[in-house]
Amino acid sequence: MRRSNENLRRFAQIASHDLRAPLLAVLQCTQILEDRCKNKFDEDDLSNFEYITRTVCAMTVFISDLLSYSQISTGDSEVLPLTDTGAVLQTALANLRVSILATDATVTHERLPGVHVHPAQLLELFQNLIGNAIQYRNGLRPQIHISATRREDCWLVAVRDNGIGIRPQYCDCIFEPFKRLHGSEQPGSGLGLSICKEIVERHGGRIWVESEIHKGSTFYLTFVG
Ligand code: ADP
Repeated sequence: MRRSNENLRRFAQIASHDLRAPLLAVLQCTQILEDRCKNKFDEDDLSNFEYITRTVCAMTVFISDLLSYSQISTGDSEVLPLTDTGAVLQTALANLRVSILATDATVTHERLPGVHVHPAQLLELFQNLIGNAIQYRNGLRPQIHISATRREDCWLVAVRDNGIGIRPQYCDCIFEPFKRLHGSEQPGSGLGLSICKEIVERHGGRIWVESEIHKGSTFYLTFVG
């Protein structure tokens, strides 16, 4: 198991390195060509250029998600630092600033605890969950609330949204790699929630969702300690 994980990690690293460079070259050449010839193009040509750019950008995101997924590790014997969840949430919100502003989303939170999770992985969790809460919005202004409750042996963190919701029969499978319910009409790799699951489980916790279609979803995460 350990050997095959290591192989996957190495494969993803090499593949991402070797794929990213030609993709970047395609993107740069497309931009140069578009800049040079834009006066000669008709609307169809321009929309084809836009399609190339969009597709290449989507592939770049996919490759970096694949790399993140393959690299999640808590480092077997490592002592995990106590991470300030509130501070990491602020960084996630700063990174998501553009989409928060574009959708006029509000993100509120309660007092959040310190948890024994790598800061970079906690950041990835918040960015994925809040990013999804914004992306899968319901035509309404996204309202996202993050809370934390102390349980006997863990912290329970909840990320609640007022988005499109998820039908009960899909609430488990969305955590599987590449499973998407809104595939073609929304950008994404289908890896975000699998990355979250991998991170949470590697830290000894659990992640699940409770949802009502058209009303919103709440993603729950437990952190031991
Ligand atoms: P991606 O967003 O790239 O498709 P994810 O693994 O993050 O991949 O999510 C898998 C699927 O779960 C999404 O395609 C979407 O259909 C559904 N989903 C995730 N988060 C939410 C949410 N907050 N509200 C409604 N649906 C969601």
